[in-house]
Amino acid sequence: MIPNTTHLIVGASLAGAKAAQTLREEGFDGPLVLIGEEAERPYERPPLSKEYLLGKAERETIYVHPREWYAEHDVDLRLGVRAAGIDPAAHEVRLADGGMIGYAKLLLATGSSPRRLPVPGADLDGVLYLRRVEDSDRIKAAFRAASRVVVIGAGWIGLETAAAARAAGVEVTVLEMAELPLLRVLGREVAQVFADLHRGNDVDLRFGVRIIEITGAAGHADGVRLADGSHVRADAVIVGVGITPNTELASEAGLQVDNGVRVDEQLRSSDRDIHAAGDVASAFHPLLRSHIRVEHWANALHQPQAAAKAMLGQPVAYDRVPYFFSDQYDLGMEYSGYVEPGGYDEVVFRGDVAGREFIAFWLGDGRVLAGMNVNIWDVNDSIKALVRSGKPLDKNALRDPQTPLESLLDG
Ligand SMILES: Cc1cc2nc3c(=O)[nH]c(=O)nc-3n(C[C@H](O)[C@H](O)[C@H](O)COP(=O)(O)OP(=O)(O)OC[C@H]3O[C@@H](n4cnc5c(N)ncnc54)[C@H](O)[C@@H]3O)c2cc1C
Repeated sequence: MIPNTTHLIVGASLAGAKAAQTLREEGFDGPLVLIGEEAERPYERPPLSKEYLLGKAERETIYVHPREWYAEHDVDLRLGVRAAGIDPAAHEVRLADGGMIGYAKLLLATGSSPRRLPVPGADLDGVLYLRRVEDSDRIKAAFRAASRVVVIGAGWIGLETAAAARAAGVEVTVLEMAELPLLRVLGREVAQVFADLHRGNDVDLRFGVRIIEITGAAGHADGVRLADGSHVRADAVIVGVGITPNTELASEAGLQVDNGVRVDEQLRSSDRDIHAAGDVASAFHPLLRSHIRVEHWANALHQPQAAAKAMLGQPVAYDRVPYFFSDQYDLGMEYSGYVEPGGYDEVVFRGDVAGREFIAFWLGDGRVLAGMNVNIWDVNDSIKALVRSGKPLDKNALRDPQTPLESLLDG
């Protein structure tokens, strides 16, 4: 019997498309199948809460590759198809439409899905989530029709959406159960910067609130009721309360799953022919010496390249410093590094915090665990080098804008 050499990728978004690209670039010339349940060819999601939502970027700019790329690279792209099960022993994936695909190597790039809000009224019309391009279209349309919206959740998606709503001239109330926006990711010191930013742009930020119901009339959301009995009126309610990794296929197939598909530093799962990358992967990170799941664009861009190499038997350890970015109003930022909630000793600032042109460093035992540059550019590689070095650094030199970041590692 001729062995099946098919390399199969489940999940046709950034991670899946990048894996397909790398397989071809690395010389794999066997059958390559990329399946995705969305009808769209692979696209990038960051613009969906920024330029695309703001109406500043055309639809065509969001795609990972031009339409012809897949045929030109002999990638069998099957869209609108959901993988419904994996049989690891038979090396087969069952599709929801009844089809079967055999594989030699399988990559799970199934990403994540928005967490749903478990309150009465959550299924009313006008309760919107933001993950797919059609969600962004719906929210854009809601901004045109609405005079006020409520955003539930002051994480990255909630805050970027709030900024887009303000740009569209819509009144915005943001409801958050924590005491500050982004508190778990950034800690109190830097979270405050984002609270000030949004208040400065006339967003009504309400913290420490508990939502008990989304109210509606004639099947359409018209507001949010809070545990203290108050009611916030809204023409649309946008929910951004986090995401969960799409691990069902992996767990039903008996793979090790723990907040994501558990993979080693080469992106190999507990089954030697199944790999995972992107939002769905909880990967061992050699620098951090622990498993982490990164829900960000740069990870979905680079990690699948390492996964593809492992599929081809040329394993490399994926050890990039985690990185993400955000744009809100006139604030642009990049964050490099990784800090567990509350997992730092102090934050040291360099530059003008009030003027929102600064770098923040999160320190642990005097070492830089993470750094965030706000409206200061071309410093990202230096910040990553500081994080990677793991060296204790002089705090005064870190604070001093006159001391070049690159010089901090001298000596
Ligand atoms: C609105 C928005 C804005 C963002 N902005 C930023 C930002 O500014 N900076 C940043 O760093 N990151 C940002 N991100 C995060 C970034 O987009 C994600 O980390 C990235 O999309 C992850 O890519 P992925 O390919 O791993 O997963 P996904 O993009 O989630 O793609 C997974 C794909 O797999 C498909 N799939 C799932 N299960 C199956 C199945 N069983 N069968 C077939 N197909 C399946 C899904 O439909 C989906 O198309 C943003 C995300 C969103 C939603």
